[in-house]
Amino acid sequence: MFLRLVFLGPPGAGKGTIAQRLAESHGLRQISTGDLLREEAAKGTLLGKKVKAIMEAGLYVDDKTVAALVENKLGELGNEKGFILDGFPRTQAQAEMLGGIMKRLGLRLNAALDIEARDETLVERLGGRRSCSKCGKVYHVRNIPPKEEGKCDSCGGQLLQREDDKPRVVKMRLETYRKKTAPLIEYYREKGLLKVIDANGGIGENMANAEKALKELQ
Ligand code: AMP
Repeated sequence: MFLRLVFLGPPGAGKGTIAQRLAESHGLRQISTGDLLREEAAKGTLLGKKVKAIMEAGLYVDDKTVAALVENKLGELGNEKGFILDGFPRTQAQAEMLGGIMKRLGLRLNAALDIEARDETLVERLGGRRSCSKCGKVYHVRNIPPKEEGKCDSCGGQLLQREDDKPRVVKMRLETYRKKTAPLIEYYREKGLLKVIDANGGIGENMANAEKALKELQ
C-alpha cells in the first residue's frame, strides 16, 4: 500500500527522525520542507538569502513558496510511491493548498500523524541535536550519538548544530508552532485523519508507537 502521510508536531518532537526511519522501513519518500528550504538557503540565491533570514529568526517562510517546493517534489514523484510530508503543512493556508495539490495529482492523504512531546523534552532534544552537513541525517549528542563523535555514520559528513537550534531561536520556533501549526491538529481531526503519536520516550519506544499507528492504517 502506498501510504501518503503528513507529520505535524512541535520542533524537537522527533518528526524528522521518525519520518526518516519509517520512510526507510516502508519504502516511502521523506519530503522535509525544512531540508528543502535549507538546500535553497545553501545555494545563496536571492530566495535562499531571504529564506535563511526567516529560518534563523524562528519564523515561517511564506505559504506560497513552501507549497511550490512541495508541489514540485510531489510532481517528480508521480503516483508511484508513498510519501511522508515532514513539516508541511504548517499553517491552515498550507493545509488548504495541499488539498489542492493532492487533488491535481489525483492522490489522497491516508493520515496526519501528530508527533507529540512535552516542552522540556523538546528543549532538551533541540539543544542536543546535530545534523549531517552533507546528507542531513539527524543525531543527538546523548540519545542518538554517532559512532564517531562529530561524524555522520552514513556518509562521513561533519555533524553541526543548526543555527535555529540555538536557544534564542528555539523559544521563537515553539511560539510560532503554537500559534500557527497547532490549530491544524483540529483541522485533521475533523477530517478523521488524525493519529496522535506519543514521542516522549526513547527512540525505540517512539518508533513502536509510530509503527502501531501505521499498522492501523493498513
Ligand atoms: P524544520 O527543519 O522542519 O524544523 O524547519 C526549519 C525551519 O524551516 C522552520 O522553522 C521554518 O522557518 C522553515 N519551514 C519548514 N517547513 C515550513 C513550512 N511548511 N512553512 C513555513 N516554513 C517552514
